[in-house]
Amino acid sequence: MQTIALIAHDKKKEDMLDFAAHHKELLSQFHLVATHTTGTLLNEKLGLNVETMMSGPLGGDQQIGALVATEKVQYVIFLRDPLTSQPHEPDINALLRLCDVHNVPLATNRKSGHILLEYAAKKLA
Ligand code: PGA
Repeated sequence: MQTIALIAHDKKKEDMLDFAAHHKELLSQFHLVATHTTGTLLNEKLGLNVETMMSGPLGGDQQIGALVATEKVQYVIFLRDPLTSQPHEPDINALLRLCDVHNVPLATNRKSGHILLEYAAKKLA
């Protein structure tokens, strides 16, 4: 089963919930992993089956990076908050870098996330 990683910064969590609710059917065709707070919200509010890593600031971004590096994650949807500085920015940049090293597509907003999901689902069919 292919895996999609989902991450949302605090100010983007509502957006992620809305995005995931909208695409629940597509998302449920994949194994989902997420940073802790994001994944817990998706599990509790939408009943998705998301495997949670640690919270972003505690290393979750790096855990997802390790999954990208070992080719266990095929797609990443990372709704970033571009307006608030994040204390774990180096980890975020490391994750983005790994996605580029491994040619793993990463969407950073809802529209690119939508395009990514449509593509990923089409590849499954
Ligand atoms: P969170 O982590 O889902 O645990 O809030 C996301 C992040 O800040 O990278």
